[in-house]
Parts: sequence; structure tokens; C-alpha cells
Amino acid sequence: MELLTETASGLLAGFLLLLLGDFISTFAYHVPEHVFGKFHSLVHHGANRSFVHYAVLTRNPLVLLDGFLGALPYFVFIPWLWQLSPIGTLLGLALGEFHVVWRHITAAGKVTPPWLQRCCEACFLTTPERHWQHHENAEAAFGDIFTFFHRPAYGWLKVLRGLKISYRRWRRGGLGA
Ligand SMILES: [Zn+2]
Ligand SMILES: [Zn+2]
Repeated sequence: MELLTETASGLLAGFLLLLLGDFISTFAYHVPEHVFGKFHSLVHHGANRSFVHYAVLTRNPLVLLDGFLGALPYFVFIPWLWQLSPIGTLLGLALGEFHVVWRHITAAGKVTPPWLQRCCEACFLTTPERHWQHHENAEAAFGDIFTFFHRPAYGWLKVLRGLKISYRRWRRGGLGA
């Protein structure tokens, strides 16, 4: 019985780490970076995309920095989830790291088998093919790990863009007066 409870808390801790990490990373870093920043767009969506893509696997320092900033939200939950289950927290971190590498392997020409793609779609998990869509089109396929973050993230993108435009107009108006 105790083993069962421990396994359940472990799985919960791992799942929460990925869910909350992806949520904060998407809404507090990824989407705002697309609107106000240049760094992520340069590294992740640059014209030299195939090189950048390749660099994720070769550990280019700039790409690593973008990866680190994107990964930071996963780390902030560690102290809290550690109390729930240390093993589960470590498992979540390992799976998160594995997913970063996996979702970038399309650059190396690897194709996800159709059965695995169907599995991932059913579980709302981002496949390398889906993530590649985001690299090609910065408005598509948000949600680094979970696909259900795309819709709200796209809405958030539009809200922030609207704010940026209003702010610019307001500044121009203010300067003109
Ligand atoms: Zn990517
Ligand atoms: Zn992006």
C-alpha cells in the first residue's frame, strides 16, 4: 500500500513538474519573448534555422542560454515537488531534458513512427514534427511539451501584441502633444 502511494506521488510530482514548467515557460517566457524580445526569435526562428536546430544538439552556448531561460520555470518548482517525491521530481526533470533533445531531432532527419505520433496526439504531447512547425512558423504549435497550451498561448500572443501596439501609439501620442 505504501509503495502504491509512493509511486502515485512520484508520478504526480513528475507530471506536475512538466505541466507547470511548460505552462510558466510558455506564458511567462516563450510568448512574451516573441512579442517583446529578440533573443528567442533569433536563436529559435532565425534564417539559419537548420544550423540553429542542429546547435541544440551540439550544445551551442547561445542556444543553451535560450534553453536555460526556457528551462528555468521547470526548476522553480523543485523545492515544492521535492517534498512530494524526490524521485518523481528527478524523473520529471529527466523526462523534460529528454523531450528537449527528442523534439529537436527532426533536424537530424529522424521521423517519429506513425504509431508513436498517434499516441502522442492522443496524450496531447508535442512530437518533433509538431515542434518543427513552430520553428517554421512562429505563430504555430506553441506548447513545448503539451499541445493543449497552443490555443491559450496563441490568445496570449495576440493580447500582448495588442498591448505593444497600444503602448507605441500612446507613446507617439504623448510625444506629439
Ligand atoms: Zn525548438
Ligand atoms: Zn518560439
